[in-house]
Amino acid sequence: MKHIKLFAAMAVLCLLMGSAFAVANLVPNVDEKNCNGCGKCVNKCPENAIALSDKGVAEISKDKCTGCYKCVKTCPNEAISEE
Ligand code: SF4
Ligand code: SF4
Repeated sequence: MKHIKLFAAMAVLCLLMGSAFAVANLVPNVDEKNCNGCGKCVNKCPENAIALSDKGVAEISKDKCTGCYKCVKTCPNEAISEE
C-alpha cells in the first residue's frame, strides 16, 4: 500500500512537471530588434498577456499566455515567433 501511494505521488509529480514544460514551450518569443512598439499584438491577445515595456517593446507574461499565437499572426514586423 505504501508503494502504491509513492507511485501515485510520483506519477502526479511527473504530470505536473510535464504540463509546466509544455506551457513554457508554448509562449512565443519576442525579437526586440524587430518590435517597433505598435501595440497591435497587445490589442489582439485574448488573455491580456502582452504589455509594452519601458523600452517600448512587447513583453509576454508567461503566466497568462496560453499559446494561441494570435500575436504571431498579427505582428506586421514578424517580431514574434512560435518558439
Ligand atoms: S505587433 Fe509586433 S511590432 Fe507591434 S508591438 Fe507587437 S511585437 Fe512589437
Ligand atoms: S500566444 Fe496568444 S495568449 Fe500568448 S501572448 Fe500571444 S496572443 Fe496572447
